[in-house]
Amino acid sequence: MTSFSQSKVLVLGGSRGIGAAIVSKFAADGANVAFTYAGSADAAAALAEKTGARAIKADSADRTALTGAIAAEGPIDILVINAGTLQLGDPLTLDADAIDHMIDVNIRAPYFAAVEAARSMPDNGRILVIGSTNGDRVPFEGGAAYAMTKSAMQGMVRGLARDFGARGITVNSVQPGPTDTDMNPAEGPMAETMHGFMAIKRHIHDREVADYVAFLASPQGAMITGSMQTIDGGFAA
Ligand code: NDP
Repeated sequence: MTSFSQSKVLVLGGSRGIGAAIVSKFAADGANVAFTYAGSADAAAALAEKTGARAIKADSADRTALTGAIAAEGPIDILVINAGTLQLGDPLTLDADAIDHMIDVNIRAPYFAAVEAARSMPDNGRILVIGSTNGDRVPFEGGAAYAMTKSAMQGMVRGLARDFGARGITVNSVQPGPTDTDMNPAEGPMAETMHGFMAIKRHIHDREVADYVAFLASPQGAMITGSMQTIDGGFAA
């Protein structure tokens, strides 16, 4: 186990699901952890109480609030951009405002957050975004807009890895497949269909994604950059 006792970690969207597992992992490994949330104040307070991490209310869809919260944290060693929303459905009838909001949270926010954090990030820092295996493969109907947002992250990761590489800062996307959270419950109506696309037919546990994130953030991840790190049980195979 890597000790992160010298590391300051900020997780964007850490109140529930994969983000909460990432907060818990870094806190357990000794890091100084803060996380943002938008709507789940009770869950955020409970997680803060349990882990010792600091909860910060900052909506990723609000660029000023987001970059202000990041700047106020001062130098961050490890930034994890996890906040995301999911809109699935017929593109001809999906609500345009909901798609715009997803674009704001899933594309615009990661870019501005990564750039803001990089301003003061120490050498050898880490920027990790939580993408999706759907950035590579969309084997069902109704996923175009969501997949678009996760593919957009791929270009950002490749470009920012070049921009910050001279400082030893790595930039990567972790791309989960179906992971058991409120967004995609293991017992939900889509579960069986999702398992049909996977080589290992079960939902991923949020802590499995968190462990992978921690590995990439560790010194062992120093030469992994500009890459898509897929953890999807073979969904995209
Ligand atoms: P959940 O819906 O379970 O949790 C989402 C988290 O993001 C919550 O903590 C939520 O906080 C936060 N969040 C959402 N919108 C905002 C916002 N505008 N500002 C700040 N925080 C926000 O999702 P998951 O844990 O399942 O997903 C996390 C990430 O992983 C997402 O980017 C998702 O696209 C990706 N992913 C998930 C997969 C899955 O199968 N679960 C598969 C592949 C990728 P709050 O409730 O406080 O608003």
